[in-house]
Amino acid sequence: MMNEGTLRADIVEIGRRMYARGYTASNDGNISARLDSARVLMTPKGVCKGFMTPDMMCITDLDGRKLQGDRDPSSEILMHLEVYRQRADVAAVVHAHPPTATGFAVAGIPLDRAVLAEVLTTLGSIPIAAYATPSTSELPEAVRRYITAHDGMLLANHGALTVGSDLYAAYFKMETIEHFAKISLVARLLGRENLITREEVLRLQGLRDTYGVKAPAPICAVDETEQDPASCQVVQAPSSPGSRLVPSADAASEEIRLTYRQLTELIEDAIRTLNNS
Ligand SMILES: [Zn+2]
Repeated sequence: MMNEGTLRADIVEIGRRMYARGYTASNDGNISARLDSARVLMTPKGVCKGFMTPDMMCITDLDGRKLQGDRDPSSEILMHLEVYRQRADVAAVVHAHPPTATGFAVAGIPLDRAVLAEVLTTLGSIPIAAYATPSTSELPEAVRRYITAHDGMLLANHGALTVGSDLYAAYFKMETIEHFAKISLVARLLGRENLITREEVLRLQGLRDTYGVKAPAPICAVDETEQDPASCQVVQAPSSPGSRLVPSADAASEEIRLTYRQLTELIEDAIRTLNNS
């Protein structure tokens, strides 16, 4: 377990970086870290994350009762505590409103296409948790649906949430989400997203163990029965190695077509096999 002074200093530094990069405006966003099995260190309510000092943080128990600190904890404390309850492996939580990723969250477009290797190995897919009024118990409920399988998610019409084994691991996932959102936006503006083949996706998922990534983070955990069928994304795998992969709805094609749901099942099977071997 990290020293409390180090954790306070890390929260200050991450808040400064988030504000400098425009991930938060005014008093937006919040950051927390586990102190031990019963206590959480958290940013206070109503302060700009770019101008915090280590003494501003509050300490609460896992039910949100304040144990220490002059200020009250963040209004989003319930969402953070829900993550710690659901994920024993998580030691830090970061929430912000990075504008490009939040744009995807507002548009209702999840970042779940297999296009970047570094995203597949660190985050897998990035789903959107349903809209919930900030600071109410609705938000933890919306997050609960995805947090067991995902280290990062968008929050509909709100922002993004990332978790990690320490503060910087959680923060860097926030950077990865915003970076991925910017790249995805540019690719979509250019009119084309070439997807990574399913064989490569499986290989990258296998490499996750090498990077020490434990959460399964399937390519898409969204139940397609709840989606508009027209929005169901189709991946077309090449029939020969090296050929380019393009999304297509061409029914006459002889190439293999997989929905994200089928890909998810393939990946989960592969992870099960890996875990049993
Ligand atoms: Zn927020």
